[in-house]
Amino acid sequence: MQIQNGSDDIDRAAELLSGKLISVLTGAGISTDSGIPDYRGEGAAVRNPMTFQQFQSAPEYRQRYWAGSHLGWKRFAASAPNDGHAALAELERRGLSNGIITQNVDGLHLRAGSTRVVDVHGSVDRARCLRCGQYFARQPLAQRISELNPWIEASDSHALNPDGDADVHEVDRFVVPECTVCGGMLKPDVVFFGEFVPTRKFHLGASLVDQSGALIVAGSSLVVNSGIRLVERALRKQIPLVIINRGITKADRRADVKIDGGASAALCELLERLTTS
Ligand SMILES: [Zn+2]
Repeated sequence: MQIQNGSDDIDRAAELLSGKLISVLTGAGISTDSGIPDYRGEGAAVRNPMTFQQFQSAPEYRQRYWAGSHLGWKRFAASAPNDGHAALAELERRGLSNGIITQNVDGLHLRAGSTRVVDVHGSVDRARCLRCGQYFARQPLAQRISELNPWIEASDSHALNPDGDADVHEVDRFVVPECTVCGGMLKPDVVFFGEFVPTRKFHLGASLVDQSGALIVAGSSLVVNSGIRLVERALRKQIPLVIINRGITKADRRADVKIDGGASAALCELLERLTTS
């Protein structure tokens, strides 16, 4: 059911969510207020995502990917969590939420103070060796990339995508970092286009939904398969479903309340109603 008036929507959502343990599914829309563009939203750049097969197949692909990923990460690192991230962290602190499943790779939920975050698409905050499995923190890795490629710091021929893969030209001189343990191939720990969400991650997300009494979807149009599967799980359990998104989503007609608007503002208003009633 969809109510037209925005304030009524919030009231009705708060009523439905009140007294229930809430699980939250977030997408790119919650990070737009932090300056990270929503690539599926209005004015989004046309993307040419690299597949994992391409990444593995030739050094040229890895040069392009890592150069773009490096610039994208710097932009992520310079951004800050917004009021929407903070509102969700507060819901968890107050025991009203059992956790967040996020499709974002920007790490902003953790930086906002949320502790139970299932990042189903991974995170740009870490990289992994494809040969020995060693994980690397991104900050020192970025430092190493900067030292290997001092020229790229001055480069401005790039545009950022929210998955951290910026488009960079003239990357043929980019030096790709190797695993310092075994010399193997490093990959940012994110799910590539066309790759499946790791089963373990999906089950962690699903168990959050299973153990909750309500689901909020914030800032996702639910075009990603893992997202809609989690929503269907909530619907099968017949728990209330509240969707906050600017524009249509794949589950609007099945939501108990659809709030058509920005995620940050709506989450702040919801937090206020849920904590003062
Ligand atoms: Zn290694």
